[in-house]
Amino acid sequence: MTRAFPFEPAFVSETLLREAAEPASALAAAGVAIEHDAPNPGEGLRRLVRFFGEKGLLRLVTDARFGGAHERMSSIGLCLVRERLGHASPLVELAFAMQGLGSYPMTLAASEHGSSDAAEVWLPKVVRGEAVAAFALTEAQAGTDLGGLATSAVRRGDAYVLTGEKRFISNAGVADVYVVFARTEDGKVSAFAVDARSEGLSVRPQAVLGGHPIGEVVLDGVVVPEAMRLGAEGRGMALALGTLHRFRPTVGAAALGFAQRALDESVAHVSSRHQFGAPLSELPLVQAKLGEMACELEAARLLVYRAAAAIDAGGDRGEVARKGSMAKLVATEGAQKVIDAAVQLHGGAGVLTTGIVARLYEEVRALRIYEGTNDVQKILIARELLR
Ligand SMILES: Cc1cc2nc3c(=O)[nH]c(=O)nc-3n(C[C@H](O)[C@H](O)[C@H](O)COP(=O)(O)OP(=O)(O)OC[C@H]3O[C@@H](n4cnc5c(N)ncnc54)[C@H](O)[C@@H]3O)c2cc1C
Repeated sequence: MTRAFPFEPAFVSETLLREAAEPASALAAAGVAIEHDAPNPGEGLRRLVRFFGEKGLLRLVTDARFGGAHERMSSIGLCLVRERLGHASPLVELAFAMQGLGSYPMTLAASEHGSSDAAEVWLPKVVRGEAVAAFALTEAQAGTDLGGLATSAVRRGDAYVLTGEKRFISNAGVADVYVVFARTEDGKVSAFAVDARSEGLSVRPQAVLGGHPIGEVVLDGVVVPEAMRLGAEGRGMALALGTLHRFRPTVGAAALGFAQRALDESVAHVSSRHQFGAPLSELPLVQAKLGEMACELEAARLLVYRAAAAIDAGGDRGEVARKGSMAKLVATEGAQKVIDAAVQLHGGAGVLTTGIVARLYEEVRALRIYEGTNDVQKILIARELLR
């Protein structure tokens, strides 16, 4: 059973619902078919990206001047799509989300700087689904503490030479373009659009829970033209943090999609599974569990769309960031609880690896870690209170 989006009307306009959620709903089912048809997750992901590009869905990941649907990328639009696709399949959702995360530093740099060769070259391809994007920030000594970032960018004439290793990079080995964050000789961080075919760039796959394509990206003296630097030298950290700020509530939206699916599957299961001569749904403890799951989900949904609306409206950055951190924290923690309850309600069927509920259980875990761990979100919220 698929429910309509029970949104707070003040946060989500009818137009956005039509533009984002309706096509996403229509495309989700087709996307799942593509995913299941592909021989491996990387191949599935590339085909999904092409498909979403052809259908116009990727117009939501950038601004109008680069082929985007809105003058400025709409956070609510992204959340609507991520929630809907997340309901259909975590891999389908990831294929969409990474086109946004992986390319947004280019959009941001171009909007700050007035123009950007990297944005002109790559964003139209990202929007058409012809290029897969990746965001390469994390390193062995630069996880939560980005002060440890060690990848270097040494100026050589009108180019830079990049050397270092990134890890936990989603889409590694599948991407056509990596936005790489590296330190120039003055110690500041700059961002670069690096063509995946560049000499000296290689990928070591990593395996995480779920079917997420991910890996280490090794840069061994990769030459990147100066024109592929995003914005001014030294703007890299601001672009990285600005991108994460923009995408944080959307991670919560993906979690809502996963959790809504788990709840829908649970309602269907307890209605059809009979024990003691009656459906499980007639047991008061089962009903109580469903009630708790629904409350967890709806409370998180309000925080997610409130945060997205705050980003779209602008305003005090600290206040907007606090709402984004709350949304990511509450929605991903809540989704974990809802999905765990769904596994329990399914009994043995809940841990069958062929089932969607077990798959959601595996996939939801990383959402509490990436784009700023949930522990760090708590600290950011507290800092804002203490400001
Ligand atoms: C599936 C997946 C996909 C990812 N995709 C990408 C990607 O596409 N691009 C990219 O650049 N990165 C990506 N990452 C990396 C991710 O952003 C990092 O894993 C995350 O920022 C945490 O860094 P870390 O793993 O080094 O953990 P650490 O920073 O070592 O943290 C370990 C633990 O210590 C806690 N901790 C650290 N500092 C503090 C503190 N100050 N106060 C309290 N607790 C603290 C953390 O909360 C955590 O619980 C991905 C990770 C995963 C799991």
